[in-house]
Amino acid sequence: MLLLNKIQDIRKNTKEWKSQSYTIGLVPTMGALHKGHASLIEKAKETCDKVIVSIFVNPIQFGPNEDYNRYPRTIDQDSKLCESLGVDIVFAPTAIEMYGDNIKTSNNNYTYVCPPYNYVDCLCGKSRPGHFDGVATVVTKLFNITTPNYAFFGQKDAQQLFILKRIVKDLNMDINIIPCPIVREDDGLALSSRNSYLSPAERNNALTISKALMKIKQLYSEGINDVNVLFDTAIATLNPNIELDYIEFRDFTTFEKVEKVGKNTLIAIAAKSGSTRLIDNIII
Ligand code: AMP
Repeated sequence: MLLLNKIQDIRKNTKEWKSQSYTIGLVPTMGALHKGHASLIEKAKETCDKVIVSIFVNPIQFGPNEDYNRYPRTIDQDSKLCESLGVDIVFAPTAIEMYGDNIKTSNNNYTYVCPPYNYVDCLCGKSRPGHFDGVATVVTKLFNITTPNYAFFGQKDAQQLFILKRIVKDLNMDINIIPCPIVREDDGLALSSRNSYLSPAERNNALTISKALMKIKQLYSEGINDVNVLFDTAIATLNPNIELDYIEFRDFTTFEKVEKVGKNTLIAIAAKSGSTRLIDNIII
């Protein structure tokens, strides 16, 4: 396995692979890899001849008061995991390699990819202004750098997945986006690199997020599909120490709000446990 941090080195390898008609899979991550990331890598290995995992804590998708500086960086451990999973290249660029010096000055000096307002001005985009512009920009850059045939994204970040599918379609990118299911701890907590911030008490409280989603799923299977009823149930299940950002019910094809839960409804929660912002969802 190669650990590369220069764009030109990635290009040399992908050129060589293309000349041999190998298919390339990209798994974009911010590192601090866990079993959720590993499931994406395994899927990529099944699907593609060559697999690139990018590890890059992308500064432009973090707000000024968010955890960019504090975000866990565990590149040695991550490289070992990637190697054990048969990854061909780990691409771990610096922010300067990705953005040059422009990044330090202002957003006005850089080209951004801006997803449709309708999909950005809601859910996580509402409380994280500029976040999805940052995600769309870095993912587009990673696509241009690594030229994948397939790119693998977790359903854990459902809004991100929806937006990236839309970008690929709208900008005619010849890339297959492969959604991958959420990997959870045995007790239901969705795996996240940010779980490492949680104290035992905060983790306990955070567990009620997945519990609320499972409760909704259970009630839906018993025939209850009214969003108001299901919303109230979720609120009653969440620990009172959890600071709720949103519970949203959206059609995962159109991203429109729904009043009745049905096939393909996304039920998404974002909430803080202590100072840690967590997201989780189910798709019916
Ligand atoms: P991140 O490193 O948090 O940017 O995540 C990189 C990719 O891993 C994204 O496509 C996430 O949706 C995905 N991912 C993160 N956590 C999980 C999880 N628990 N299960 C499945 N995919 C995940």
